[in-house]
Amino acid sequence: MKHVYFFSRGQTDGDRDMRDLLGGKGANLAEMSRLGVPVPPGFTVTTEVCRHHLLTHHLPDGVEEQVSEAIRRLERLTEKQFGGADDPLLVSVRSGGAVSMPGMMDTVLNLGLNDQTVEALARISGNECFAYDSYRRFLQMYSDVVLEVGHRSFEAILSDVKRQAGVETDNELEADALRSVVRRYKELIETESDSPFPEKPEDQLWGAIEAVFRSWRTPRAQAYRKTYRIPHDLGTAVNVQTMVYGNRGTDSATGVAFTRNAATGEPKLFGEFLINAQGEDVVAGIRDPLAIDQMQEVMPDAYSELLETARRLETHYREMEDLEFTIEKGTLYLLQTRSGKRTARAAVRIAVDMANEGLISREEAVLRVEPDRLDEVLHSMVDPSVDFRPLAVGNPASPGAASGRIVFTAKEAVEEAAGGDPVILVRTETSPDDFEGMVAAVAIVTSRGGKSSHAAVVARGMGKCCVVGTKDLEIDEAAGEVRADGKIVRRGDWITVDGASGEVIEGRIPTVKPEPGEDFHTLMGWADEFRKLRVRTNADNPADAATAREFGAQGIGLCRTEHMFFGEERIDAVREMILADDKAGRAAALAKLLPMQRSDFAGIFRAMDGLPVTIRLLDPPLHEFLPAEADEVRRLAEGLGRSVDEIEGAVARLHEANPMLGHRGCRLGYSHPEITAMQARAIIEAALEVAAEGVDVLPEIMVPLVGHLDELDNQRAIVDGTARDVFAEQDRKIDYLVGTMIELPRACLTAGEIAERAEFFSFGTNDLTQTTLGLSRDDAGNFLPLYVEAGVYASDPFQSLDTVGVGRLMRLAVHEGREKRPDLKVGICGEHGGDPPSVVFCHSLGMEYVSCSPFRVPVARLAAAHAALKETASAESESS
Ligand code: PEP
Ligand code: MG
Repeated sequence: MKHVYFFSRGQTDGDRDMRDLLGGKGANLAEMSRLGVPVPPGFTVTTEVCRHHLLTHHLPDGVEEQVSEAIRRLERLTEKQFGGADDPLLVSVRSGGAVSMPGMMDTVLNLGLNDQTVEALARISGNECFAYDSYRRFLQMYSDVVLEVGHRSFEAILSDVKRQAGVETDNELEADALRSVVRRYKELIETESDSPFPEKPEDQLWGAIEAVFRSWRTPRAQAYRKTYRIPHDLGTAVNVQTMVYGNRGTDSATGVAFTRNAATGEPKLFGEFLINAQGEDVVAGIRDPLAIDQMQEVMPDAYSELLETARRLETHYREMEDLEFTIEKGTLYLLQTRSGKRTARAAVRIAVDMANEGLISREEAVLRVEPDRLDEVLHSMVDPSVDFRPLAVGNPASPGAASGRIVFTAKEAVEEAAGGDPVILVRTETSPDDFEGMVAAVAIVTSRGGKSSHAAVVARGMGKCCVVGTKDLEIDEAAGEVRADGKIVRRGDWITVDGASGEVIEGRIPTVKPEPGEDFHTLMGWADEFRKLRVRTNADNPADAATAREFGAQGIGLCRTEHMFFGEERIDAVREMILADDKAGRAAALAKLLPMQRSDFAGIFRAMDGLPVTIRLLDPPLHEFLPAEADEVRRLAEGLGRSVDEIEGAVARLHEANPMLGHRGCRLGYSHPEITAMQARAIIEAALEVAAEGVDVLPEIMVPLVGHLDELDNQRAIVDGTARDVFAEQDRKIDYLVGTMIELPRACLTAGEIAERAEFFSFGTNDLTQTTLGLSRDDAGNFLPLYVEAGVYASDPFQSLDTVGVGRLMRLAVHEGREKRPDLKVGICGEHGGDPPSVVFCHSLGMEYVSCSPFRVPVARLAAAHAALKETASAESESS
């Protein structure tokens, strides 16, 4: 069986389609070698070998021979010898899974060095400093990754030698000083690991390969996979590649580049490089890199070759690529290409630009932007009208603005965030060990590093606000404080971070939502051409309705009328109505509410001119409107001319053990028909009023929590009767629909009957999930995360539809409802209406629309387009 795949120009076994077997990095190294892009030759040990090793702790038969053969082949190709005392072959060993996991796995460079080969390297390169610096880096990385001994002690030794030599940077150390670093490193390794450093390159190689396999299981790799839902059993490949050096003098360099700007999407090479440095230096953010543009001046030939290679790779992959490169004595080598992570804003611009350039189709452009990421395009920023002086300004690495309490470590971030307040992780720099802390934080600030530092790359991937390289911020973790601009802010203090401007500000500063750009509207326009689902919004007031309309809402799918009852003068009338002793008292209170509701509805109808508006009759249990605090009870008693005891008695009477399943929804209208009548009157009168102004009004009156046809019949009779009365009074008419929420299992099971009387169904999947799963909406938070963690539910069923259970009921209801009434309009107005996977499911049920909160409208529009395009693509692939 083939376990090892070779790559070099003209002798390449793999290609880009072999990601599962060779990992993303290996597959792309093979592809680049095929394309003739300059890649140092090497080979990839497959993910299958890793999987076998993870299960059995042994290597499958034949791997050792194949690796040895590949090394011999590399020796022939490079005319060097592995462990050779004349001209040693040195290699890098890197992990690379099928799904990119930046920074999560480990790398060993300069493998093959030992006390003999380092001398040969010094001789051949004519540069002793370079050889010993390479050796000490190798010892350090190998010990860290393979032997798992003393990272901090190495730093201490290096600092000590630098101090003795009176120099500041590693680059300034002379050969003798580096020799002493190497000697002390080796002593440390021997003491800490109880055995000498392995001198034989073969032993080093197998140690490194097995360490890569082991690193798949580290807690940080597991945490990353959990967050990004990468299966734990994929395993990683191992790439062994001939070393090239970016630290061989001022004609050498190393860097990373994106073929387009990863923050803005601008079609221009973007990245950074370091002269006379080795690969990891750029990512680690240890020295401050230069912007890629500056390469044009210092290395013009290499720069133009890099530009040309970037263009070729982008055209070949039809994607914005993220490149790693090294220039060794003026010669360019590519060490990696992969699809580049980018901000959502950049993703939108790149997709639109590439479609306009003819590189991809409009369909592909729409599919290139994940719907959830649109949230970031509509991201907050610090309110520009607020005057402040930032504590410090760093590199803006990932947009958005957030306020939170300062924490200094990943552990603190996780612990403090669990307390409820947002936290901001402030660190000198981050490493993969900080991943969970970064997940827990709302923003990340570092004092070191550039835009491709670990913090920047990971935060962008998460869509989290991040500022890096904030040099003026003096972070003193031990003292628990940050000093900047003559001020001190302490652990737990509030700061605000703006990831677009790079500002770090003391205190909590208000944030505002920006205007999305032209590209965003173009992409959304394309999405609208492809989608079949309509997208409405859940809005209860004209302002939200107008916002949603700007975001492209095609109507209101749910107007929760009870939200209008909480205004100060209204709540008194509502309470008066609830506490009335008789019908007459209730009628008097309702008469006060009628004009208020009418004007609310008129405002919403105007904002939605020409679009349907679904208004739901009163839903929550009445006690929710009654006061809980003693002060409020007293105020109400005085206002109504009643005693405190009377009010408290009423509150006690209305108390329910299980209000979610109690006297609510259409049950209220059933026992208090006058409430339904008042609301129906307000809706119809408002509709007539705005229609007279020339507004095109399409009211849809919705009955909540129906479980039985009789409930709907009863409420419908009141609505229709009221409408007839109003039409007769005003001698005018208007069209309206009456329909129902489908939010109880019984409603789904009897949907055929219910459809006889309902002109539309709107799935209330919040309640439908609650009642189908027998899982309280309000209490599930205590234990549901455990279920999700254990995989009982793939995700929170209140966020993403449980398509297997709840979805089955919905499918039945749509089917039986439409069988009875073919023109039945069907939509969804539970929170799931703005959740992309749930939107895809709604599309598959053939619903007319989804309805979600105003800011989710663009997300739902894009998700609906994805659903339609993916359906077409899978139908095409089935028929071909
Ligand atoms: C629902 O139950 O899904 C719904 C939209 O109604 P509410 O959240 O108001 O109960
Ligand atoms: Mg509901």
